[in-house]
Amino acid sequence: MSTTNTNSGSGTGKRVISFHYTLTNTQGEVIDTSRDSEQPFSFLEGTGQIIPGLEKPMALLSVGDKRKIEVEAVDAYGEHNAELIVEVPRTKLPNADELSEGDQFQATGPNNEMLLFRVIEIKGEDVKLDGNHPLAGEKLFFDVEVIQMRDATHEEVAHGHAHGEGGHHH
Ligand SMILES: [Zn+2]
Repeated sequence: MSTTNTNSGSGTGKRVISFHYTLTNTQGEVIDTSRDSEQPFSFLEGTGQIIPGLEKPMALLSVGDKRKIEVEAVDAYGEHNAELIVEVPRTKLPNADELSEGDQFQATGPNNEMLLFRVIEIKGEDVKLDGNHPLAGEKLFFDVEVIQMRDATHEEVAHGHAHGEGGHHH
């Protein structure tokens, strides 16, 4: 096997990108923003830390760039899946006596994947659950500003996330 090192020095070939964002839905409602905190959000490229529809266009930006990025549901949190709305007897759930709408808990989905289910309706002894991401089926609108781009450290690549400001602290 031959390798060609096109990087100078001992770079990891991955970057940590820090950015501020405001996320709105099609109704123009703000769903989330990093502007509430002093620090921008930081992520390590290529690890799925942010949705693909945002990571791809962001990778092409430069520090200081401000952009509006529209992301279709399929490139965000996926299309809404009606099969993930299920009704189960209340007694099958943890804390059966203290359930309320909006409660969330992990359970296995139809393909044995771990999903976060939300209680969307309580009907007597039955409970209606939704395993879709709350933003499934939604087209998303991001207003982003790139604050910093730097080479990831080997430790960050090994951990699979960004360290420092706006990243993991440990
Ligand atoms: Zn770490």
